[in-house]
Amino acid sequence: MKLKIETTRRIELIDITSEIQQEIMKSEVSEGICIISTRHTTAGIIVNENESGLKEDILNLLQKLVPTGAGYRHDQIDNNADAHLRAVLIGASEALPITQGKLELGTWQRVFFAEMDGPRNRIVNLTLLKSIE
Ligand code: ZN
Repeated sequence: MKLKIETTRRIELIDITSEIQQEIMKSEVSEGICIISTRHTTAGIIVNENESGLKEDILNLLQKLVPTGAGYRHDQIDNNADAHLRAVLIGASEALPITQGKLELGTWQRVFFAEMDGPRNRIVNLTLLKSIE
């Protein structure tokens, strides 16, 4: 399964929890694992809280840890080394349990697509594994 995402900023966090939940509901999987992954090299997947201040804090942290244009070798090729390096810190996938047909998330947990080099059209892959009963 694939989710299509249209990002609108250079870096942003997009809550994709509801879309993932819908795909799980359409499937036959009630107990299992959902792997959320992206094949892009300048984006990632994050699990955390959807609070506007915190989302800004996360993006600010990434920009502080990986400043733009800090003499990276990849910038000589395509001028987006900061986006790749931020994506390295985030990671390209998350695996979450499915319980009773739903993603097993904590009260405050949401799943985000993390755009690090937008705006672009992006794809998120969902792989559902059904538990043996
Ligand atoms: Zn690049």
